[in-house]
Amino acid sequence: MTDSVGIHHVTAAATSARGNVAFYTRELGLRLVKRTVNFDDPTTWHLYYGDETGRPGTALTFFPWEGIPRGRHGTGQAEEIGFAVPKASIAWWSERLSSRNIAHDLPKKRFDETVIALKDPDGMLIEIVGTDWAGKLPGYASADVPAEHAIRGFSGVSLWLDDTEATAAVLTGVLGFRLLGEEDGRQRFVAGDGELGGVIDLRKVNWQSGAFAGGIVHHIAFRAADDDTQAKMANALRDLGIPTTEQKDRTYFRSVYFREPGGVLFEIATDEPGFAVDETVEALGETLKLPAWLEPQRGVIEAHLPPLE
Ligand code: ZN
Repeated sequence: MTDSVGIHHVTAAATSARGNVAFYTRELGLRLVKRTVNFDDPTTWHLYYGDETGRPGTALTFFPWEGIPRGRHGTGQAEEIGFAVPKASIAWWSERLSSRNIAHDLPKKRFDETVIALKDPDGMLIEIVGTDWAGKLPGYASADVPAEHAIRGFSGVSLWLDDTEATAAVLTGVLGFRLLGEEDGRQRFVAGDGELGGVIDLRKVNWQSGAFAGGIVHHIAFRAADDDTQAKMANALRDLGIPTTEQKDRTYFRSVYFREPGGVLFEIATDEPGFAVDETVEALGETLKLPAWLEPQRGVIEAHLPPLE
């Protein structure tokens, strides 16, 4: 995607760091592009997965809190996380998931895409989405998944909501999305060319409200090219009566957060500087990286973090 719009990253909670790494790097073939800690809770890992560089639109991140219970799926949350692969790779993924004994649904059609639904080890809802555009993007070759079939990044994310109208207004009025159409009980909004990270589906769901814990998305971050664009988006939110936090420096991007009217925590994150700011692209994700203010506590932090392998 040429414009800096759409999904920047998605962050969720996991119940086991080791299980999380095994699933996302081995079963799904993503690259672990950053191992750091939760800046607000430095005894917990913050693990980032993505393409080779974890560029915006590809990064799924986790706070693994060891042994926490699973959360409850429901409204007011981001639920299905779609990963884009080339359409021709859907058969390969179907076969792979079967051969790895990972339960999954039969492929089905939706908005001219082919979707395989599955769950991660904590019950998070994952979709492998065969798209017309994914094959144009380079794939990261992992030990288990060859480049041609690799997940290229997010196709999109679905939100489950009691009501969609006010959330739609934020998507279209602030975050650069437009309504594409309605199908299969979902309103599809696209940003830019609708390719990498360019889709948000709103689903009006008459069900229980969700509860955050393991296997539940914590927030979705949307892209802003730079601080200036981010400030304009924050102003547009305030005009809608939606307050945002102050900007927070997350080392790899700078963020503001807000609760959208449907109850989902949203973030606006800058594209700059990216994950190669404190290690080379070749070495991404190999060692624990800490922001400067936590370096003095490195020994204590390392002693408390659970093993990843
Ligand atoms: Zn975030």
